[in-house]
Amino acid sequence: THFGYETVLESEKENRVAGVFHSVAESYDRMNDLMSFGWHRVWKDHFVASLAPGLSTSNPGQPQRILDVAGGTGDIAFRLVSAAHAASPNPKLHVTVSDINSSMLSVGRDRSLALPASHQACLSFLEANAERLPPQVQDNSLDLYTVVFGIRNFTNPLAALREAHRVLKPGGVFACLEFSKADKHPLFNYVYKRWSFGAIPLIGQLVAGDRDSYQYLVESIERFPSQEQFRDMILEAGFEVSGDGYEDLTGGVAAIHKGVKP
Ligand code: SAM
Repeated sequence: THFGYETVLESEKENRVAGVFHSVAESYDRMNDLMSFGWHRVWKDHFVASLAPGLSTSNPGQPQRILDVAGGTGDIAFRLVSAAHAASPNPKLHVTVSDINSSMLSVGRDRSLALPASHQACLSFLEANAERLPPQVQDNSLDLYTVVFGIRNFTNPLAALREAHRVLKPGGVFACLEFSKADKHPLFNYVYKRWSFGAIPLIGQLVAGDRDSYQYLVESIERFPSQEQFRDMILEAGFEVSGDGYEDLTGGVAAIHKGVKP
């Protein structure tokens, strides 16, 4: 049947994505640096600074509750916690790093052991599918939901956006950093496409011994909706956005989208 067919495709995509991230977990951080010339660090720092973690909570006196979805090896969560500590000596926040993939999470957990104890105390880890968050993530319970370089891997991004909307408090913020379309500048776009389709699978093969996984990553970027299409999905899930609803980074190679739950 039509539905049977869809289910097969969906579970195939889930398995494929799981395979990719089990096989890249160890080399993931090094590969990010190589493939983006270190740009992913600049984007992540900018993203986190724009969120001013630890400074806003809808419930004063309570810690700001943050869920970092598809948090992988912890890059965003660690930055959120350290930005909050830089802004205040005793910040009130708790960041849950969640990911569908146990290998990525366990690399993240190991990395977190190198952080100061005061930072570790603000972190916890949760194996979870963003499209069906587990019951411990309750309705209207979060101040901030982050998803960075994750949502384009989801089988059903709109389902994940609806889950984000469900678990955020009214006034809570959805914030996403994701690869996007650089097509506003044709020459730049041409060079960028040549790089991503030509060099990235090759680097994947040479450095990580895994061409297919990196080929998949490049194709998933190509397939992901444009800035405007993704903003419209965020609206469809029930969020409000201000202005265009997104900010381009490096000519649109990546973009930040934000929405507020009314
Ligand atoms: N946010 C981290 C970062 O920026 O370094 C990790 C990004 S990594 C490219 C993408 C992550 O999405 C992987 O760890 C993968 O396991 C996770 N992922 C894929 N599908 C998912 C799903 N349905 N629910 C939760 N996480 C998922």
